Amino acid sequence: MARSSTFVDVAIIGAGPYGLSLAAHLRRRAVEHRIFGEPMGPWKTNMPPGMLLKSYPWATSLSDPDSEFDLKRFCAERALPYHDELMPLPLSRFVDYGEAFQSRYVPAVERKSLIRLEPGAGFLRATFDDGETVEARRVVVSVGLSPFKRLPPEAALLPAELCSHSSEYGSLDGLDGREVVVVGSGSSASDLAALIHERGISVSLVARRPKLQFADGPRHRSWLSRAIAPMSGIGHGWTLATCAKYPQLIQHLSKDLRIRLANHRALGPLGGAFVRDRVVGKIPALLGQEIRHVGTHNGKVMLNLVDPCGAERLMKADHVIFATGYKIDVSRLRFLNPALLQHLQLVDGAPQLSAHYEATVPGLHFIGPAAANSFGPVCRFVCGTDHSARHLARHLSAVLARYRPALQLRPLDRTVLP
Ligand SMILES: Cc1cc2nc3c(=O)[nH]c(=O)nc-3n(C[C@H](O)[C@H](O)[C@H](O)COP(=O)(O)OP(=O)(O)OC[C@H]3O[C@@H](n4cnc5c(N)ncnc54)[C@H](O)[C@@H]3O)c2cc1C
Repeated sequence: MARSSTFVDVAIIGAGPYGLSLAAHLRRRAVEHRIFGEPMGPWKTNMPPGMLLKSYPWATSLSDPDSEFDLKRFCAERALPYHDELMPLPLSRFVDYGEAFQSRYVPAVERKSLIRLEPGAGFLRATFDDGETVEARRVVVSVGLSPFKRLPPEAALLPAELCSHSSEYGSLDGLDGREVVVVGSGSSASDLAALIHERGISVSLVARRPKLQFADGPRHRSWLSRAIAPMSGIGHGWTLATCAKYPQLIQHLSKDLRIRLANHRALGPLGGAFVRDRVVGKIPALLGQEIRHVGTHNGKVMLNLVDPCGAERLMKADHVIFATGYKIDVSRLRFLNPALLQHLQLVDGAPQLSAHYEATVPGLHFIGPAAANSFGPVCRFVCGTDHSARHLARHLSAVLARYRPALQLRPLDRTVLP
């Protein structure tokens, strides 16, 4: 809580929904901690302005100890329109909500980046980009998805000015006047394509899938359909509803089942319901296409595409955006020192975690998307913040209590007594 010199009980790396929620719970429990990162960073800089969230507003709240400051309450306080399901949540409103949450519950975020994390004697040593070194009994990594963008091998053949990943937008200014191809069929692909098209930029979609799919629009559901396929914050159906409500149960499943569940089609990969009409019939889409080869010619990208019947076609563009998602692979976290990496047991690239989100390196915890292979698909969404924040704050408060000095009793100051 209060800033200590160079030693702290808990260092939280990341100030997105997961890090902020945990910090709010630790603060309530008076667990000494520091939190580092840009508040709501990737939501402000790595997602295009105008984007609509695909999760339901009721399932897009950060977690505070009294469950009192959810998105609904934020909108009510500011007289902003709100509906649990029937309206999309604009990115800018979610960012405002996250920042309001931060100033209310986590006032002391330190905007700096971790560049090295290494083992010490009974603690972990974290070095930041301003040169400060912090020794922490516990380090909680909550760096989200940004370090794990997935690019197809073909992208490595292209110069940076001709290709990018969807996570690099942000502002679309650099695309004005260019002919753009977006590769992918998930929500990032359809969101970006719609926003680029609405800016008056020529854009096409290219995808391996034979059909663009979008989430169902909000609609009234009878009690029967709700009973057959209950609604949860990460989609309909008993599997997802159970995963959303009881992430701790997933721990006990086999490794293969956990990996399958982590990648379950929770809210995707589909276009968001509200973006369908902005894409279908408006943006040219070449579907069922594999990229066989990419190259360049006269400063343009050349995509050699092949359909399932083997027919080839050549496509030309000024810029190609790969909206090809993310794959958790902790070896890509450059701040992890090789000695730590070596002791991390992995499940398909993600850390194997205990029931307390602790990796096989004692004192090192992971929350958010990196925890999905141990706690299921809810960790890939904002609505997973509640379980990790509540559970981990309770656990850390209990295990760190043994380091706290016993209450010091001072003699009564008689001068102020009557
Ligand atoms: C395009 C897109 C749309 C999405 N839409 C939805 C949606 O509609 N609903 C939903 O529930 N989820 C959505 N998600 C998923 C969502 O982004 C993640 O589930 C959520 O952001 C994870 O929160 P987080 O706190 O783990 O990380 P993030 O929100 O990604 O925050 C990461 C934090 O880590 C910090 N950080 C990173 N590296 C370092 C470092 N080295 N040192 C210090 N700090 C560091 C950053 O500054 C930032 O503060 C979407 C994701 C994407 C990419």
